Amino acid sequence: MHMTYDFDLFVIGAGSGGVRAARLAGALGKKVAVAENWTVGGTCVNRGCIPKKLYAIAAHYREDFEDAKGFGWKVPTPKFDWNKLVKAKVKEIARLNGIYADVLKNAKVRFIKGTASLADPHTIKIGRKSYTAENIIVAVGGRPSHPAFEGREHTITSDEVFDLKKFPKRVLVVGGGYIGAEMASILNGLGAKISLMYRGDRILKGFDDDARRHVQEEMAKKGVRFRLGCTIKKIEKKRDGLHVFCSKGPLMIVDQVLMAIGRKPAIDGLGLIQAGVEIAHGGYIIVDEHSRTSVPHIFAIGDCTERLNLTPVAIHEAVCVIETLYKNNPTMPDHRDVATAVFSAPALAAVGFTEEEARKTYDKVTIYKTRFRPLKHTLSGRDERVLMKLVVNGENGQVVGVHMVGAEAPEIVQAAAIAVKAGLTKEQFDDTMAIHPTTAEELVLMRTPAA
Ligand SMILES: Cc1cc2nc3c(=O)[nH]c(=O)nc-3n(C[C@H](O)[C@H](O)[C@H](O)COP(=O)(O)OP(=O)(O)OC[C@H]3O[C@@H](n4cnc5c(N)ncnc54)[C@H](O)[C@@H]3O)c2cc1C
Repeated sequence: MHMTYDFDLFVIGAGSGGVRAARLAGALGKKVAVAENWTVGGTCVNRGCIPKKLYAIAAHYREDFEDAKGFGWKVPTPKFDWNKLVKAKVKEIARLNGIYADVLKNAKVRFIKGTASLADPHTIKIGRKSYTAENIIVAVGGRPSHPAFEGREHTITSDEVFDLKKFPKRVLVVGGGYIGAEMASILNGLGAKISLMYRGDRILKGFDDDARRHVQEEMAKKGVRFRLGCTIKKIEKKRDGLHVFCSKGPLMIVDQVLMAIGRKPAIDGLGLIQAGVEIAHGGYIIVDEHSRTSVPHIFAIGDCTERLNLTPVAIHEAVCVIETLYKNNPTMPDHRDVATAVFSAPALAAVGFTEEEARKTYDKVTIYKTRFRPLKHTLSGRDERVLMKLVVNGENGQVVGVHMVGAEAPEIVQAAAIAVKAGLTKEQFDDTMAIHPTTAEELVLMRTPAA
């Protein structure tokens, strides 16, 4: 017997991955619904990439004003208005929410507001209503992890920081991942006194060691104080601020504690286990190379799976599922050489292998690296250095990694990523004419191996 369902495809979560999947399936004429319990656009648009980048731009102006003086500008003392920034951001994000809603509408996707859960492998429950679907895509993303110490209710996460009513003067950022590094840099640039606490001894684990060291040193020069090898014991709210008791070092008194200790999949109450969907340690949904879960007609994409938790990756996984499901073209997402950036100040961007990874993979590795003061800072007088590093497979000359720390690193590494992905060699980099004078020209001018 051929079952009929309410929908051909039901997508849970209208974030980066979910919206793309729903929209593509809708455009193919499929009957599609997408459920969302917060805001259309998901983490990236509302509480992630976009507000973060807007605030990082805002934060950078402090230095731009200072640097302008070295170029002959007389700059009156700049004043920053937090509420104005928040308001401008809210307006821009409302515009983006509108675009996302229109995209779904134009693809004839039914948008259902509410928290969805699986009642059985083909039935989705939202409130008192139930819907059936032939195929399901789980694209619920992640949520910030919460700490387990006394006084945790006094802390905030990246979910709240962009809309704080009042700009905090003293902030403790806890966490050495990309969100911690970015938020510390942003709040520091906007004028808060920042401490960054991390349990390890160097931030940005997983990135190239030279790049990590360089970012940490440059952030320290800009005033971020690091408390490394340290964790919070408890927090007490007192009249003069939050008293933070730490595993080492003196008591800290701050206005806000921002926890950026990681994120985990938003799978609570989703009914996955009852529906037969297998989950790995840490709550990640287990998928095969086509993003298929242990239930063949249920797929999972984006941050709720343990792959690369980035917006373009979630979108790519969505596109691949639609190819596989509806275009008779089974497509595996490609997670190789994904370029990524940390929008700290200065920014770090990377593609391909770190030196450590390359040394584990290849018998012979050649490293090219350079640290230099960019032209701008000869006149600005700012003591900031750029780091650029190429990791080369010594056997065939292929550039297998590009790492850069500097204001324009994300813009430059995005372009370099094409060369890495295409498997170009160091010789081909060398054959490329420089654009002079730029920071990026160093990419094609490094001649002497460092190691
Ligand atoms: C502070 C921050 C900065 C970031 N910066 C960057 C960056 O610069 N570049 C980058 O590439 N990535 C960045 N990311 C990561 C990026 O936001 C995620 O990788 C991306 O949003 C993942 O998309 P997704 O579709 O998996 O999930 P999400 O975008 O999180 O969407 C999931 C949606 O599902 C909804 N949902 C969850 N459960 C249910 C349910 N039961 N029923 C209905 N709806 C539900 C959620 O409300 C959410 O809207 C950042 C993340 C954060 C937190």
